[in-house]
Amino acid sequence: MTEANVRMRAGRTAGAPPAHSDPNSEGAALAATLDETMGALDSLEARLVAVADAIPGRITFSTSLGLEDQAVLHAIARTGRAFDVFTLDTGRHFPETLETLEASELRYAPLKIRVVFPDAQDVELLVARDGIMGFRQSIEARKACCDVRKVRPLNKALAGAAGWITGLRRDQSAVRAHVPFASWDEEHQLVKLNPIADWSLEQLEAYIADNSIPVNPLHARGFPSIGCQPCTRAIRPGEDIRAGRWWWENEDGKECGLHNRPKPKEAHT
Ligand code: SF4
Repeated sequence: MTEANVRMRAGRTAGAPPAHSDPNSEGAALAATLDETMGALDSLEARLVAVADAIPGRITFSTSLGLEDQAVLHAIARTGRAFDVFTLDTGRHFPETLETLEASELRYAPLKIRVVFPDAQDVELLVARDGIMGFRQSIEARKACCDVRKVRPLNKALAGAAGWITGLRRDQSAVRAHVPFASWDEEHQLVKLNPIADWSLEQLEAYIADNSIPVNPLHARGFPSIGCQPCTRAIRPGEDIRAGRWWWENEDGKECGLHNRPKPKEAHT
């Protein structure tokens, strides 16, 4: 499928909603079209252009500055399109992560990465109640910390956006195995987009190397997935790539709430 075809198909869906349809139906229809058309395009840049052409309004990209998101950031810069790029500063990042942020802004200037912080009073109340390392007490305490430092700031950053780009990949973990290219996010009322959902780790690493994309130096030290410093460790050979995140918890609960557990592909719209 050519890019022109993609634009025509997506444009019809976005520009001619059926009369009296509700926003969730329209959003789901747009997401279904984009899911199909993104999957038919080979290049990441072409997928992002298709997204920019199809979705009216602000399209935001949340970057954790990890390997996947650095690849998406590179492609966003290449498109020359106006995407709203932001990252969440939880206050607990590795210094290397913040260095990666600066290196990325220098590489992709004038593109800026908006830094979104948690509400200071929320953090003070959380720490007063649970302690500065309280997230280790229980899964509930850990999720409360993620809620204050990640989920609430994310919701603030996504408010009013029409599209939300992520760097999720299906082979990152078992719970991400059914991540679609595009789905309607009813909670945030936007189209959630995962333009490298089908990429393998080898494909990702080749894209990074071919384009000399700046990456967090921790990746070379055994950290394939990098979150907050106290909640991330290096992994051992053969471990799942997300095994270093909240390693003291059961596998089932290991998401921070930023990404709701994906539904099976056939039900994602
Ligand atoms: S990853 Fe750890 S430190 Fe970061 S917000 Fe979640 S519980 Fe808090």
